[in-house]
Amino acid sequence: MNFNTALLHGVSQADKNGATIEPIYQVSAFGFETAEKLEKVFNNRASGFAYTRISNPTVESFERKISALEKGIGSVACSSGMAAVTMSLLNILEAGDEIIAGSSLFGGTIDLFGDLLAFGIKTKFVNNVTAEEVEPLINDNTKAVFAELIGNPRLDVVDLKSVSELVHSKGVPFVVDSTTATPYLINPFDYGADIVVHSSSKYINGSGNSISGIIIDSGNFKWDTARYKVLEEYKKYGKFAYIAKLRNGIWRNVGCCLAPMNAFLNSIGLETLGLRMERLCNNALRLSEYFEMVDGIDVNYPALKSSKYYDLVQKQFGGKGGAILTIQTGSKESAFKLINNLKFAINATNIGDIRTLVIHPASTIYAHSTEQQKINAGVFEDTIRISVGIEDLIDDFSQALYYI
Ligand SMILES: *Cc1c(COP(=O)(O)O)cnc(C)c1O
Repeated sequence: MNFNTALLHGVSQADKNGATIEPIYQVSAFGFETAEKLEKVFNNRASGFAYTRISNPTVESFERKISALEKGIGSVACSSGMAAVTMSLLNILEAGDEIIAGSSLFGGTIDLFGDLLAFGIKTKFVNNVTAEEVEPLINDNTKAVFAELIGNPRLDVVDLKSVSELVHSKGVPFVVDSTTATPYLINPFDYGADIVVHSSSKYINGSGNSISGIIIDSGNFKWDTARYKVLEEYKKYGKFAYIAKLRNGIWRNVGCCLAPMNAFLNSIGLETLGLRMERLCNNALRLSEYFEMVDGIDVNYPALKSSKYYDLVQKQFGGKGGAILTIQTGSKESAFKLINNLKFAINATNIGDIRTLVIHPASTIYAHSTEQQKINAGVFEDTIRISVGIEDLIDDFSQALYYI
């Protein structure tokens, strides 16, 4: 099945009335005819829905579609991308554990790793998530290696295969935030990732109308319960141990479930992921090629021949570079002028919308970061991040450049 066919027909619809999209079950609880039946559902001895914080048909329908799309054995949807990142890790971590992560991560994730210090969980950062940089930092306390496949906004690309080979040889799982790559560019499990998370607020939703996240389990990682003692109780679930613990443990108890309405909006958005990404990647390449010709503008886009990630983009993503690019205009003043002169591109802090969005990261998302954190994230005083939309806005950028 090609990508779009699989999106629309890959997962059979469960609705008994034949609804073409799973309807919105906008309810908190489900009634049962007998106490025996509800007892079974509560004890995982029968399938069924009891309470929406734990599971809901509309949410489950979205989860099944994402599991199929990412070729995982199961997934758990969350109230936000940050909730997904947090739960993907807290599901396996205890006080005293360490994470190894890239220093170019999304700002919220960097801040989260700071918050985890209060719970005795320490993160060691590497400048580039490569086997060479990660290896010396791995020790007995290392319980996860975490990376963004295409860093936002540094746009560095991780070579999944070489990093996963290394971390597996040390008995550590590779957790990958694939938000900016999307399943259209790659299935990270094919390259050795063990757990994938998405902020589905972005490309999966596509229209910027709901905050949400999702965690997908490959089922491939061999959890050694001597090392991951927290999974001991879930050993009986075999390859489903991680996802079973998530749904029955911390995720449900923290209560960061996805609302049925938002799951429904995501399922609608998901149907056009292939169409949108095809257009977004083409537009991003064209716009970045345009910027390459403009004097005084430096452009960073991983699918450009001038990018050091060009070969990796060919190998891992079939030549597609995603839909984010950054430009450097020479000064903060000129960056602001350019943004203010744009007629259509919207100045907003989001990515993955069908509309083109621009932002000056240094004065906004990274306003509270240290100078070193900004450099690590590829954020300079004159950097503008462009989340390319489905429109054709080369003319808009070219008229705005005229004034700077
Ligand atoms: C936006 C984003 C997140 C956080 O997702 P929210 O849905 O905003 O909570 C995490 N990782 C990446 C790469 C993101 O772009």
